[in-house]
Amino acid sequence: MNPQRKGPLVATAGAPSPDSRERDSVARLRAVRHASVVIIGGGINGIATFRDLAMQGVDVVLVERGDFASGATAASSRMIHGGLRYLENGELRLVRESVRERNALLRTAPHFVNPLRTTIPIYSTFSSLIASPMRILRHGPGRRHAERGAAMIKAGLVLYDAFSRDNGAMPRHRFLGRRESLAALPALDPSIKYTATYYDASVHSPERLALDVLLDGIHVHEGAIAVNYVEAIGLDGSSVRLRDVETGLELSIGADVIVNASGPWTDLTNETLGTATSFMGGTKGSHIVLDHPQLLEATGGREIFFEHSDGRIVLIYPLHGRVLVGTTDLEADPSEPAVCTEDEVDYFFDLVRQVFPTIELDRSDIVFTYSGIRPLPRHDDIKPGLVSRDYRIEVDRDRLGSPVVSLVGGKWTTFRALGEALADRVLELLDRPRARSTDGVVIGGGLHYPKRASNREAWIANNLPDLDPARGARLLERYGTRATEVAALLAEGPDFPLVDGALSTREVAYMAKFESVVHVTDVV
Ligand SMILES: Cc1cc2nc3c(=O)[nH]c(=O)nc-3n(C[C@H](O)[C@H](O)[C@H](O)COP(=O)(O)OP(=O)(O)OC[C@H]3O[C@@H](n4cnc5c(N)ncnc54)[C@H](O)[C@@H]3O)c2cc1C
Repeated sequence: MNPQRKGPLVATAGAPSPDSRERDSVARLRAVRHASVVIIGGGINGIATFRDLAMQGVDVVLVERGDFASGATAASSRMIHGGLRYLENGELRLVRESVRERNALLRTAPHFVNPLRTTIPIYSTFSSLIASPMRILRHGPGRRHAERGAAMIKAGLVLYDAFSRDNGAMPRHRFLGRRESLAALPALDPSIKYTATYYDASVHSPERLALDVLLDGIHVHEGAIAVNYVEAIGLDGSSVRLRDVETGLELSIGADVIVNASGPWTDLTNETLGTATSFMGGTKGSHIVLDHPQLLEATGGREIFFEHSDGRIVLIYPLHGRVLVGTTDLEADPSEPAVCTEDEVDYFFDLVRQVFPTIELDRSDIVFTYSGIRPLPRHDDIKPGLVSRDYRIEVDRDRLGSPVVSLVGGKWTTFRALGEALADRVLELLDRPRARSTDGVVIGGGLHYPKRASNREAWIANNLPDLDPARGARLLERYGTRATEVAALLAEGPDFPLVDGALSTREVAYMAKFESVVHVTDVV
């Protein structure tokens, strides 16, 4: 989705007055005046909390200063994963929760989340066998890097399998020797000793999944309102001061509880709200996307997940016919925009060369780069790669006015469980009981989604009979089974193709009306 937009649009001479340009959603917000909860930040974690509270019947307002899911949420590696690597840091709670949520998402969001076959190339047998268990015994991250050998990876995968099995839904890991590994993936570095293959999952359209979660929240409770391009700019007692980024107009909304879910910007938002905190220590991560058929073929359709020469775990994997390569982990200042630097590109080329030494890359193969800041907790002198990926919730009740609840950390994978934990804290503050759980609740267009490719054709023929099958397939991929709603709107009037038929004029109108698209760059 759209990158952050920092300030209001300036009204120029002859432009319509800001009032006449005010969006209906903002006018509705202005009319509300008071909500039980105001959530600041429309990334996946603010959105998940919004949906959870809406499902409890709580009047909740979510404001996002850019487009929804445009912060860290748009910058992820798209893995819905248990976090094999967190095992060596002893983060057993997080791994258990993550694999549980991963397995659940394969069922509740089958339109966007798919199993991901993952292969680790391994260069040694026993390295790091001492260092990592020591880290686990100390229940925390260590500071030194030692290469991970086969025995250590094997131990991790056995444990991971134990957490992951989900009644046998996910296959167990497999180890292969050098010869078999090279037969399966011939472009791999011939100096490898083994490969280990296991299953995780990936999300092919993270921004659309976030949007589906948001729409579920909006649809389930009339008192749930979410508006993008509205920034929280201050706090007067129990009222959050807001500014419509599009018009520059300000408004205030009272709240019994304020949730700060602004990801890497959490401390900056707290400062805006009048309280200094130092919860966060975000790190920047970048990715490049390559149009490189030879590299695509070399991956064999799998994620190649491995240790780069600096000890960082990096990945190469196929994405929509291209290849995603990531990522870095560098200390970052959230008040500065995150961009992919030339040094990072060199780092990525180097890591591809490490596993696929015969594949030549050129900067002209790069079709896209993106970067974001991970909302990690403050970590002082701990190396970025070893900082906990778990989350915690901080409640400030000492201030005059309503309590402010800050979220510190939180991956993509665990958004539902995190949203539930955060909503529980809010319900406690509101002294309201939980009415229902979000556990196992199917998300948006995942409802009755034909999981098997072989059933999709029949679904399209039965449910989108008036559309050309290729167009039907595109709608099913983009909206899941909500494609029927979109098709109904397409049928209401003349429609013209856009972007070589990938979109159409009426489809964009649908997005503007129902998906809060404000700028062309918000179309996903
Ligand atoms: C490089 C990288 C790779 C990653 N890979 C993975 C992965 O493969 N798997 C995984 O599970 N996780 C991954 N993550 C982590 C994951 O993407 C994030 O932890 C998660 O998306 C955080 O979501 P969030 O909602 O907490 O924060 P964000 O998405 O950053 O949302 C916070 C929002 O708050 C808004 N905001 C800030 N200030 C204000 C204000 N004053 N008023 C209104 N709005 C405001 C921002 O605009 C932003 O949209 C990765 C992260 C990065 C950066």
